[in-house]
Amino acid sequence: MLNITLLGTGGGMPIPNKFLSSALLRYQSRKILIDCGEGTQVAMRVNNTGFKSLDIICLTHGHGDHIFGLPGLLSTMANSGRSTPVTIIGPLGIKDKLEGLISAIGFLTFEIEILESPKADLFIQLKPQGLVVTEHTVGNSQTSDIILSTLNLDHATPCIAYSMYIPRAPKFHLERALAKDIPKIYWKRLQKGETVKDGNNIYLPKMVLGKARPGIKFSYVTDTRPIEAIPDFIHKSDLFICEGTYSNDEDIEKAINYKHMIFSETANLARLGKVKELWITHFSPSIEDPKIHINNVVDIFPDTRIGIDGLSKTLAYPNSNDSED
Ligand SMILES: [Zn+2]
Ligand SMILES: [Zn+2]
Repeated sequence: MLNITLLGTGGGMPIPNKFLSSALLRYQSRKILIDCGEGTQVAMRVNNTGFKSLDIICLTHGHGDHIFGLPGLLSTMANSGRSTPVTIIGPLGIKDKLEGLISAIGFLTFEIEILESPKADLFIQLKPQGLVVTEHTVGNSQTSDIILSTLNLDHATPCIAYSMYIPRAPKFHLERALAKDIPKIYWKRLQKGETVKDGNNIYLPKMVLGKARPGIKFSYVTDTRPIEAIPDFIHKSDLFICEGTYSNDEDIEKAINYKHMIFSETANLARLGKVKELWITHFSPSIEDPKIHINNVVDIFPDTRIGIDGLSKTLAYPNSNDSED
């Protein structure tokens, strides 16, 4: 299961009752943060998220409304007793951008690893110390808890989108394991897709596993024009969070100039990507009440929520495949 909370929905600057766009993901008891503008740690406090178990921070790009909250948040995490490393992921140039911000903090109780512009999918594993990111998979992707993909977007500065996929192991057939006398100590590894060798015996996952089952997909796209690669990248997401900086079609020129999107463009991406649900975020401070513009979206993509701070949802595996082989 993956729980997602929109910590904020504003773009540009934090204003009363609207924090800057960011999202907090909870997986098991650990957390991933996407973007960290000014005030994000206050939004985390409002939502009672805690700080200590935040293992990964994904930054879309280096504009202030997405990173200026980072030094404060990292300091608070240190004050909360964090000692294990934190991984920060971001686009090309993010290391230079963060250098000054992080050095301003002074002493930290934990190490920071910065992964700049990942060239391939990243694999996230839940370990006793928290969520750990690896650039190359050990074994195969089925041993990962979360597969994280990025996509280069079209903004005024290097900017990346994120998608996370939580694979679901095929159904484990206990009766087959018992019939083949496979020792119980190997069951877990077989379920994870590993082949196990024990003396002369070789146990293959297919001996005990059913068909592949779909996992959970979540995607987050902000600060970009609607480029052609996005629908593929977000394809069939259970939840797609996307920017809609401007609400009306008349603002298209502004959107093009500042490399953002209008609501109807956002809705169109959701439709092309065949996602299950769309949440719109990153509203221009000039939009007083984003939800009154819902009609600009629902004709194109009905399953849309206009984001509000604190909006939260838990994505779970569908039940429909449980009985299948
Ligand atoms: Zn922004
Ligand atoms: Zn930006």
